[in-house]
Amino acid sequence: MKEQIETLVKLQKIETETNHINTILNEVSNKINSLDTRLSSYEISISQAEESLNILKKKYRDLETDIDMNNQTINKGKDRLNGVKTNKEYQALLKGIDELNKKNFNIEEEMLTLMDQIEQTQNDIDKQKDEYENLKQEVHKEKQSIIQGSRQAQKKLSELDNARGKISAMIAPDLLKKFQMIKDQIPGPAIVPIKGIVCEGCNMNIPPQMRNDLKKFESLKFCPFCYRLIYWEEQKTD
Ligand SMILES: [Zn+2]
Repeated sequence: MKEQIETLVKLQKIETETNHINTILNEVSNKINSLDTRLSSYEISISQAEESLNILKKKYRDLETDIDMNNQTINKGKDRLNGVKTNKEYQALLKGIDELNKKNFNIEEEMLTLMDQIEQTQNDIDKQKDEYENLKQEVHKEKQSIIQGSRQAQKKLSELDNARGKISAMIAPDLLKKFQMIKDQIPGPAIVPIKGIVCEGCNMNIPPQMRNDLKKFESLKFCPFCYRLIYWEEQKTD
């Protein structure tokens, strides 16, 4: 019986390791997703900045057109100045030209402000693009190492599968069946050591008589509290 129990303990180690690797593999897709999210938030931010840059440039061009049109009107007005008959008409024309010049002055002020904003936005885009490129390379490297790691994990997993097959073949079928049943029904390990009189599966104290029986390794025992298979493990003294 002792040998069978030791084999079960080995099987449990394989199961525990398998679970651990599966947890890591499940995390891989989460990790990759969060890296992609970091990249795409940059992409969104850059395209928003580019959009506002286009709006600013369009505004700037519109103002340029306004100035052109005003200048044309001003020039026409100037041409007409020589031909006017009355002083009143002359004054009105001058006033109109003056107003348009003032308008142009204000538009030019506005264009200067826009120019600053365009420059700032462009700088911001350039900076973000630089950061994005760096991040992209970083993410690429990280992904490579994650993928590398998960390949190793897959390899380890298939090694564990092989080992499980071999070990399982060494265990009596009904014992293996019990082990599987506990494994399917109770989370965590199916077979746990008793240390002192404490079950390592549930931390409860088992009856002292049970511990004495366990030490003999004559029969299979179950924890009366968590129903896992239990076995006696020598306390290491150091
Ligand atoms: Zn227990």
